[in-house]
Amino acid sequence: MKKKHIFYIVIILALLAAAVLVIILSEKKSPVVEETIKEEKIPEKYGIPLEGWTLYSDTVRQGDYLGTILSRYGITAQQIDKIGRMSTDSFNTTLINVGRTYTVFSDTLTDDNPVAKIFVYENSDVRFTKYDFRNPDTIIIEKLRKPIDTVTLEASGVIKYSLWQTMLDNDYNWELALALSQTFAWTVDFYALQPGDWFKAIYNEYYVEGKRIGIGEIKAGVFFNGGKELWAIPFTQDSVTCFFDTVGNSMRKTFLKAPLEYTGISSRYSNARMHPILHQVTEHLAVDFCAPAGTPVYAASDGVITTRAFQTGAGNYVAIRHNSVYSTVYMHFSSFGKYNVGERVNQGDVIGYVGSTGWSTGPHLHYEVHENGVKIDPLSFEPPPAEPVDSANMERFNKEKRGWIDRINKIEVKKGNK
Ligand SMILES: [Zn+2]
Repeated sequence: MKKKHIFYIVIILALLAAAVLVIILSEKKSPVVEETIKEEKIPEKYGIPLEGWTLYSDTVRQGDYLGTILSRYGITAQQIDKIGRMSTDSFNTTLINVGRTYTVFSDTLTDDNPVAKIFVYENSDVRFTKYDFRNPDTIIIEKLRKPIDTVTLEASGVIKYSLWQTMLDNDYNWELALALSQTFAWTVDFYALQPGDWFKAIYNEYYVEGKRIGIGEIKAGVFFNGGKELWAIPFTQDSVTCFFDTVGNSMRKTFLKAPLEYTGISSRYSNARMHPILHQVTEHLAVDFCAPAGTPVYAASDGVITTRAFQTGAGNYVAIRHNSVYSTVYMHFSSFGKYNVGERVNQGDVIGYVGSTGWSTGPHLHYEVHENGVKIDPLSFEPPPAEPVDSANMERFNKEKRGWIDRINKIEVKKGNK
């Protein structure tokens, strides 16, 4: 009888102990407990707790080298030599620039001079290099980043003269104009903004230690241009985030692989070739497509005709500006299409017909693609993808879209203070 009692008591005690253990373990795992510990923020700089250290900060002056600065703080010639040997092409440990800040963490003095135990050099407002001398046998060098704080802001404005002027009138940073022109590059013609056009946007600004270091991306927005509200709704599918319009079409327009039906390629993009007429080596930053005279040539993508003219070398030629990044040029036309300078064309509109005007040995189309003013290879040019929202994702897109539109509609359009 007694044995049975003891047996039960042992089992009950064991169960109790197990229950207590489970409670302790689960409490340890609980994020709530962790958060309360984090709340007592220990003061730190460059991720180093400040307690016990005396800090000495200065800026790099003309004629300073990392070695000369370190030797002032008790770092030996052998250690400085070691740092130099730890430097590689991709991991430069010795390069410092005049005017940048450095900080010495010291807890000892030798002959009244502080001795560096940790040395931090600020490569930029965000990046810094930490040299740790605490272990006498090894030097630990780390390239690190300060934590970046993201602040989400709203902006709006009405165009009176230009987007830049609207930025000034509303006290926005010029970087916001740049971010807007990139986000809306494929849908808004920034060269044809009209007084009364307006925008609203949600965007990020980045801060490091309370100092503004720049504008991040536009999160979402709407631009009223050409009598239409052009929306930029962000959406992530296949782990890629792109902007879409309100029905889920990509804001980006693709380019035609070739702007005509051609029979062959007579000259590819190259930095050096023998010119067939000039008989000298010149670069050919274009593609020559062979096609019978009179073959229609299409606009490679939506855009505005910026040139339609005759030139000695180019013959009858047309240039189209597609957005602030891409333009295309078409040469040697026998005749032009119906579009004049300043007119909008859609992808596939006929802008001219293959000919042999200008410096040309036979009917062909000389085709150039300009990216930020640089002639790139039209055949290896990979235009940004323009996939719409996948039908399987449409329900999620519509839900997220509603959230963005509601938020942006609440932004009042600022009229500017001038
Ligand atoms: Zn050519």
